[in-house]
Amino acid sequence: MDKKYIVSYSGGKDSTAMILLMLEKNIPIHKIIHIKTGKEFPFVADSVERMKEYIKPFEVEEYSFDLEYWMTKRQRIKGSRKGEYGFGWPTVKNRWCTGVKIAAMNNGIIYGEYDQFKTGLSQPNIAKLLNPHEYRILIGMATNKIKRIGTDPLVSYPLIIWDKNGREALSTCYRHGFTYDGWYDKYGIASCYCCPLQPIDALKMSYKYFPDLWNDIRRLEGLITYNKFKPKIDLDNLQKKFDDELELERILQYNSCFDGRD
Ligand code: SF4
Repeated sequence: MDKKYIVSYSGGKDSTAMILLMLEKNIPIHKIIHIKTGKEFPFVADSVERMKEYIKPFEVEEYSFDLEYWMTKRQRIKGSRKGEYGFGWPTVKNRWCTGVKIAAMNNGIIYGEYDQFKTGLSQPNIAKLLNPHEYRILIGMATNKIKRIGTDPLVSYPLIIWDKNGREALSTCYRHGFTYDGWYDKYGIASCYCCPLQPIDALKMSYKYFPDLWNDIRRLEGLITYNKFKPKIDLDNLQKKFDDELELERILQYNSCFDGRD
């Protein structure tokens, strides 16, 4: 029996390269599912729109969960904080938003719909409903992330099977005109721009190139009372540090044309 391949499409370079290589290899795609959080970098959102055109008449199925609503307004219905509003920032120990994303994905796969107000975190038991001999969920993970792959029989990692690293995935994207405005040449990560789990140097890149997105993180920090964006870091001080470092970089760049001769 031919397997039905369901593609988990984030809009980033790896899942994009996976789709493009499947097209090149004439591998039939059953579904492409994209979960939108509203906190995508603009070049990722643009790339998703481009893919929707590129893949026509095939369609990208898109389901939304509003990350800001969940962070700031969503009422908790169980646990020690039952009744309180807002899940706050995700943390290493509580990446609750990943759970919402998976719920949206699984509802999309099984029911073809996801309503964050009605369905929330509940999701169908995909392991029981999908037969791995008939279906396979494809995750775009390049060989440099091989340590993160799981052993779920329903899930496969084509880029790893094809021995493609992140750089090769990016060149596949470039070959098809998915350039992300050159972001991946400056920096390797493009998850939610407001993800508190990203390293400080990624935040500095956002501050430098997307000040509006940095300001949005600061706005959210003002709205979320449950926890802090980075527990030990004050964003005023971090912004001051970024300003100092960027000024130094600018001065060094300006002086790099001085060759030391009179
Ligand atoms: S990238 Fe960060 S904020 Fe976005 S869904 Fe993943 S853990 Fe949550």
